[in-house]
Amino acid sequence: MSAVSLTSIVKKFGGFTAVHRMNMEIPDGSFVTLLGPSGCGKTTTLRMIAGLIDPTEGDITIKGQRINDVPIHKRNLGLVFQNYALFPHKTIAENVAFGLKYRNLSRADAEQKVKDALELVQLPDVGGRYPKQLSGGQQQRIALARAIVIEPDVLLLDEPLSALDANLREDMRVELKRIQHRIGITTVFVTHDQSEALAMSDQVVVMSNGRVEQVGTPEEVYNTPASEFVSRFLGISNILAATCRNIDGSGLELELPAFGRITVPKERAPNVGSTGPAQLVIRAEKLLLTEKSAPADERVAMDGVVEAVDYQGQAARYFVRIGDHHLQVLNMIDQYPFQEGAEVSVRFRPRDCAALPGA
Ligand code: ADP
Ligand code: MG
Repeated sequence: MSAVSLTSIVKKFGGFTAVHRMNMEIPDGSFVTLLGPSGCGKTTTLRMIAGLIDPTEGDITIKGQRINDVPIHKRNLGLVFQNYALFPHKTIAENVAFGLKYRNLSRADAEQKVKDALELVQLPDVGGRYPKQLSGGQQQRIALARAIVIEPDVLLLDEPLSALDANLREDMRVELKRIQHRIGITTVFVTHDQSEALAMSDQVVVMSNGRVEQVGTPEEVYNTPASEFVSRFLGISNILAATCRNIDGSGLELELPAFGRITVPKERAPNVGSTGPAQLVIRAEKLLLTEKSAPADERVAMDGVVEAVDYQGQAARYFVRIGDHHLQVLNMIDQYPFQEGAEVSVRFRPRDCAALPGA
């Protein structure tokens, strides 16, 4: 059974539709991320699951029970928001114990649960302190402990790491995933950060303009994007207009100026069903720049010119022209630190490419 399911959910704010007929199944125990740019409807969706706002249409069930009309305090959910402030005048232990107040636990049981939750977030000794005595990252762990202490059916997290600085954010990613794994709690995580989504999720729901663009594992949404939006939102993609000349068991034969014909594996082009206009998708890191004189290998090789270089330390992003195509190439800097104006060979394997229907 799905832990959470949304069926034909619509949310309107006056005449504006923030969520359009959304369907979503969240398997029990899984970590599912709603990923999309600001304003695409992630928070609105999470708030409907939480019961903070009502859907205009559609059904929400949690553990098989329709909960549209169940008030928030009767839904057994844990919530953490970006700025879910702790109560400043309560101690950490009192903050964590807050959700247990209405659960009729003995004092000893409640204390034990608070102790366990603080241990889970690896802050066992801070119960007597006040929020302002903790760092931002520690406060966010406490917010997580407070959400988890009630043993919720589902944990709802809305950009919980966004307020933290970069290094801490990466540590907290690993930490949050560890905790989720350890207690096996169904988690719906909201972020606009694609690397967070790819690193943490079992399933990613990519959203745009209130609609679901694609649902899949991190590998699926990255390697086989269902739309131009998904391929541009995740990673750096080169998307080139092409013509599909033939489809058979070995794949799709695409033709494009300067490239000639390229055969893309069929499983990397699930939405291209017929010949005619199509688009070739090549990830920037799947292109390799070499010296023009480098020996031939199994890759397709084309001549190009480096038009600009965006140096990034261990890697560089090159802007390269091949005929009339402008491509971005992301390469580690090892033996070939190319400069602007360099004439290069641009190489790739057709099996690393994907294809989309024509724009
Ligand atoms: P996200 O979390 O993906 O950034 P939101 O779910 O917060 O996006 O918002 C989706 C859209 O709905 C935005 O255009 C936002 O302005 C609009 N919106 C959200 N809440 C309200 C509201 N209470 N009243 C009117 N419009 C809203
Ligand atoms: Mg939001």
